[in-house]
Amino acid sequence: MVVKRRDPDRVTIAPLTVRFANDEPAYSILRRLAVRRGCLSVADFARTVPNCPVTFVAGVSYGRDIDLVSRISGFDLAAILASTPVRTDKGYVLNGVRLDARGSRNFGRKAIGRICAACLAEDRESRFGPVECRPYRRFWWDLPEFIGCPVHGCALSISCANCGSEDLRTALRPDLCNTCGSLAEPEPKRVEGGGFERQLLDIIRGADPPWWAKDLSIRSMAYIALNVGILDLIGPSGRITKEGNPLDVMECMVWGADILDRGKEVLFAAFDQAIGTVLSGTLQDLYGSLYRGLEWHTEPELKGFRDLLVEHASLRAHSRLGREMFGRKLETKIDVSKLQYGTRSELAKVLSITDDQVKRIAGPYTCDRVPGSRHKSQRSFDIYGASNFVSQIYCSPTYNHVPPGLIGLLEVKRIGLRWPDVYRQIRDGRIPIAGRIAEQEGLPAVLVDRSIAADICLSVETSD
Ligand SMILES: [Zn+2]
Ligand SMILES: [Zn+2]
Repeated sequence: MVVKRRDPDRVTIAPLTVRFANDEPAYSILRRLAVRRGCLSVADFARTVPNCPVTFVAGVSYGRDIDLVSRISGFDLAAILASTPVRTDKGYVLNGVRLDARGSRNFGRKAIGRICAACLAEDRESRFGPVECRPYRRFWWDLPEFIGCPVHGCALSISCANCGSEDLRTALRPDLCNTCGSLAEPEPKRVEGGGFERQLLDIIRGADPPWWAKDLSIRSMAYIALNVGILDLIGPSGRITKEGNPLDVMECMVWGADILDRGKEVLFAAFDQAIGTVLSGTLQDLYGSLYRGLEWHTEPELKGFRDLLVEHASLRAHSRLGREMFGRKLETKIDVSKLQYGTRSELAKVLSITDDQVKRIAGPYTCDRVPGSRHKSQRSFDIYGASNFVSQIYCSPTYNHVPPGLIGLLEVKRIGLRWPDVYRQIRDGRIPIAGRIAEQEGLPAVLVDRSIAADICLSVETSD
């Protein structure tokens, strides 16, 4: 019988092993085993294990071949899987919790390679076995959503405190710098209670996510908490760059999560306060980086949170009925000195509708006809007033899709109204523009609140 030289099925426990540690990913176990064996790399170590194919090492970073790691180390497979991110077609998954939506991150040798020096110091002091095998990596060190250590509340460090080298990720021993050989020094600055990272860790370990984070990946949860924090602490134009102080990021995250956890009312009150009297009205302008990110995050489950922003934006527009909208009043008076007469076609162009559609709004009493102009006169439309009106449209929030509760001006037939009637009410300032559809111009872009439009138009009908 021919026996293959490298046969993974015949791999058994390695001659020297290490003690099991909670929260240690498979790629870290291999590194500790390599240290235990006196090898210089994980691949070197794999070569010393009888029957073991060296190539499997690379796959462990993606969560593959964990059963081999289990057999080599003698650790329970389920226990290793509980702390090892596994790449799936739905992104990385850990313990049944989705970490991201794309699975494009790296673990193992290409991981971020951050450390918590406080964890490492504790490992050296409190764990058993040869001291060089005691310190181990925690899976959350390589999750970019974890800015700080959930246990110690200090920022995770990416470089050696002694020489500044950023080569920590390739070091076999996480507590020993490859470049200068010094031990990692604990970071002194702390965020109380482990910050939002504590909450993320609890969720990965099986706790229920908060109401706003149902079905969201860990990445999206951290994104939303951070950006709600930024919006509340700094405002819609606030930004935090990657180069910023990690403690600032941690504080914004824990602050945002606290607002979110207290419920929708508190969240909306925070939005109101953050937006204040911002003049221009796209959702990006109102909600800053919180909305910008929601536009490019591909995760379908984020729709629920996006809808929440839309709901707040339309509530805001609603509450401004009869007053101002996003800081501006609808212009209904005509400045006689700037009157500019135009033809029906010119008006159609300004409003982005057809000549035939103009006919439907261009009765003798329409607001777009210059007062007193004769019915058949060619240049009898108030182009200045119309363009002024169109510019108001751009002060309302922008949507890619019609949000619930709103309806396109030219679509109001679906709720039993005639759009020229609704248009006149808007021009008279009785119905506010609730938003506009992105990429559309003029009247086809205009969104109105369904119930306001119906209320106003019906009450006008009955009072006529
Ligand atoms: Zn720590
Ligand atoms: Zn160093």
